[in-house]
Amino acid sequence: MADKPYDIFIIGGGVNGCGIARDASGRGLSVALAEMHDLASGTSSASTKLFHGGLRYLEYFEFRLVREALVEREVLLKAMPHISWAMRFVLPYSRASGRRPAWLIRLGLFLYDHIGGRKILPATKTIDLTIDVSGAPLKDIFRRAFEYSDCWVEDSRLVVLNARDAALRGARIMPHTKVINARRQDGLWHIETHDSTGTKSIFSAKCLINAGGPWVEDILKHKVNQPSKDSVRLVRGSHIITRQLFAHEKCYALQGKDGRIVFAIPYEQDFTLIGTTDIDHADLATPPRCSDAEIDYLLGFASNYFKTPVGRDDIVARFSGIRPLYNDGAGNASAATRDYVLRLDDVAGDDVAGVPLLNIFGGKITTHRKLAEAALAEIAPFFPKMSGDWTAGVALPGGDFAVDGFEQLVAEIEIQYAFLPAGVARRLVRAYGTDARHILAGIKSADDLGDDFGAGIYAAELDWAVKHEWVASAEDFIWRRTRLGLRLNADEIARIDQYVQGKNQ
Ligand SMILES: Cc1cc2nc3c(=O)[nH]c(=O)nc-3n(C[C@H](O)[C@H](O)[C@H](O)COP(=O)(O)OP(=O)(O)OC[C@H]3O[C@@H](n4cnc5c(N)ncnc54)[C@H](O)[C@@H]3O)c2cc1C
Repeated sequence: MADKPYDIFIIGGGVNGCGIARDASGRGLSVALAEMHDLASGTSSASTKLFHGGLRYLEYFEFRLVREALVEREVLLKAMPHISWAMRFVLPYSRASGRRPAWLIRLGLFLYDHIGGRKILPATKTIDLTIDVSGAPLKDIFRRAFEYSDCWVEDSRLVVLNARDAALRGARIMPHTKVINARRQDGLWHIETHDSTGTKSIFSAKCLINAGGPWVEDILKHKVNQPSKDSVRLVRGSHIITRQLFAHEKCYALQGKDGRIVFAIPYEQDFTLIGTTDIDHADLATPPRCSDAEIDYLLGFASNYFKTPVGRDDIVARFSGIRPLYNDGAGNASAATRDYVLRLDDVAGDDVAGVPLLNIFGGKITTHRKLAEAALAEIAPFFPKMSGDWTAGVALPGGDFAVDGFEQLVAEIEIQYAFLPAGVARRLVRAYGTDARHILAGIKSADDLGDDFGAGIYAAELDWAVKHEWVASAEDFIWRRTRLGLRLNADEIARIDQYVQGKNQ
């Protein structure tokens, strides 16, 4: 037996597992979390990266979800002004462009503006594309657009910062640790894990939380051996990253004749992110991959709007993720509910009553904090001494500065560390917020930054990422803690990998 029993053992290091770990640790519960790969290696690094209400979900009458998500946008912006920011979305309109009449879009946006308690984000307006900067890249048939607010978030950093905050509050976070079996015995859960070295461990806990995302049902059936009436609907969504298609900072929300909305978003300064698709994914054994048909769909979608057609030569990368939607029996994938469903199981038999299992279905990046509160409310009867909701208004690590204070923080770091190459201070503040000061503490000259790995990466940052963000390989760092993989060549990546592996020994 490895440890004394934890209050909660969480399976899954995505946004939902890490969000729950943070919330529970802050309430004084002892928490362990096992993630079979890297943190955020599942769906939580493959999203469109929006804190949004989901305008389209209003058509499916998902008012509860849309309202909660809209209200959440500003709560989250304030808690993480480094990794999230407001964006303006341009929804071009022409009679030929979509199946929704203008009055319906206007009504949807009116609701969007008014049901979410908006204080920071600017309201919707109608814009004239013949004079607005966003009109220039679009075909001339688009003369009018609606412009509304939503927010961007660095999804995989959101996950690691939740995990980091949980760890700072006492949680044990175990990436590269797969749960292979869990059973109830003698009033406790006994959970067997395998780590990447092949070491087996057994943990015990009073409560088990299954936050396995797309694997939630697999965990239920094959790791916990628990029958369940609930099931997950696996819906793949893919994105392409192209060369920069437009130079301004607004995003486009493009409607298709199929009723779907595809976003074209400025990405990592020099690129454009286009997505997503909505396709049933048959089998978890097949890793999600953006298919040729999906590429054609996204290219065709964008080319219907942009003057210069977007072609395969414009693509620099693609990625795909699986939405773990609650299976509500909807006909097509786009219509399946995006809301989360929590299922508490503690009555599987007299001998297991009081040894709860909480299964998490669905959920969005945007609602992870509310989902964590709801999860803690479900298990509260088992932990009568646990304290109440606390995460609204508490900054994530590095996010302890004003919601409009980003530029000032960048300017301060640029003045204090004037030797940093152009753009590095800004990137560090975007990723680490006020923790950029900790990364740079004691550094007095460019030489003190240590080895230069390209794309503005120095040993000082990698040391921090290994020590505080569970980075175990170059891939963790260049595709999830940052997206610098877009700017590095194979030799540079190999050098980072060698350095990181060395630091982990
Ligand atoms: C294409 C796409 C676009 C999206 N866009 C948005 C958006 O813009 N805004 C928004 O709010 N939401 C968006 N979402 C939804 C959002 O990304 C997901 O709902 C969310 O990331 C799910 O998080 P999760 O923690 O439940 O799952 P995951 O992130 O998949 O985490 C589950 C984790 O469990 C681990 N695991 C599984 N089995 C085991 C085991 N046996 N032992 C240990 N670990 C295990 C997995 O490795 C995985 O890392 C999008 C989703 C997709 C697919």
